[in-house]
Amino acid sequence: MNIIETSQIAKRYVMGTEVVEALKSITIQIKKGEYVAFMGPSGSGKSTLMNIVGCLDTPTSGHYILNNQDVSRMGENDLAEVRNKEIGFVFQTFNLLPRQTSLENVALPLIYAGYNKADRTEKAMLALKNVGLENRAHHRPNELSGGQRQRVAVARALVNDPSILLADEPTGNLDTRTSYEIMDLFDQIHSKGNTVIMVTHEEDIAEYAHRIIRLRDGLIETDRINPNVRKVN
Ligand code: ADP
Ligand code: ADP
Repeated sequence: MNIIETSQIAKRYVMGTEVVEALKSITIQIKKGEYVAFMGPSGSGKSTLMNIVGCLDTPTSGHYILNNQDVSRMGENDLAEVRNKEIGFVFQTFNLLPRQTSLENVALPLIYAGYNKADRTEKAMLALKNVGLENRAHHRPNELSGGQRQRVAVARALVNDPSILLADEPTGNLDTRTSYEIMDLFDQIHSKGNTVIMVTHEEDIAEYAHRIIRLRDGLIETDRINPNVRKVN
């Protein structure tokens, strides 16, 4: 089953008299459970595509079907609802609330989803356990290493059981060793059946994905199965 289907997606930005075609025509199918990297040089359209796939923005033309729902022309409110249900985001900069504990940060999406406090705590604890951080539940972000912060962010992304984990340069702020630790975690998440998409400009990070889609100038340059999936250790 395809969790993502885009057909001839284009995105144009108009700035005064200048028109930027950030995406020209992007057609992709991604099946449930795939692990995909979006690669490409700066300016190739990765962020624009990620914003559309993540329901943060809509295409100027073309269609995007996410989990059997056409989200191409949705307004901001409907789009936000789909986004909260279907997408778990991980960012380069972690985006954790500094004054909240790991547990509170992870439980945050569950408040919006309407869970009571006891259920939130139980689910957030389980999500932290799944990333190996149950013993850091009551620490605040500044009491954690970079890798631990990113693992808290991954737990928060997955706590609501989204259809897709969508990670934007997830290792961009981490040293090499810690990057491997996060890639190892992504492997585990993928092997449990989750759909994982990461956006990266780093070749050696993209090599962990099972399929690599390369963009150039708003078009797909190549889309292929990775024959040499990289493994940690
Ligand atoms: P990255 O390449 O790390 O994903 P960004 O997504 O922030 O970085 O920006 C990518 C490119 O898009 C940059 O060249 C930036 O100047 C341009 N860009 C991003 N947002 C805007 C905007 N609002 N107006 C004009 N250009 C933008
Ligand atoms: P990447 O993430 O691969 O660096 P982007 O998707 O950020 O690429 O940008 C693709 C192209 O679209 C770039 O030329 C960029 O300057 C332009 N662009 C991106 N966002 C905006 C925006 N909000 N307004 C105008 N131009 C933008």
